[in-house]
Amino acid sequence: MGVRRRAGGFTLAVNPILCDGFGHCAELAPDLVHLDEWGYPIVERTPVALSNLSALESARFAVRGCPRQALRIERVAEEERRA
Ligand code: SF4
Repeated sequence: MGVRRRAGGFTLAVNPILCDGFGHCAELAPDLVHLDEWGYPIVERTPVALSNLSALESARFAVRGCPRQALRIERVAEEERRA
């Protein structure tokens, strides 16, 4: 069994073309997604550490729960996270 590295971080990215703006992602990942006045998601652009497992789990819930498959998790290298 290997050791999984938790270095680096992640951000959530929204594809605005696919997004329908019903805002399920903000319910599933309230710490990472807020809604604008029209209900479209505004994602936190500051990378979150991969070691923050509760935030990563929230992000995965949001990605899985997005009915339009408009969300994805983008990995950010440790160097970029610190920049
Ligand atoms: S759940 Fe998906 S489609 Fe709905 S607002 Fe969020 S990103 Fe857009």
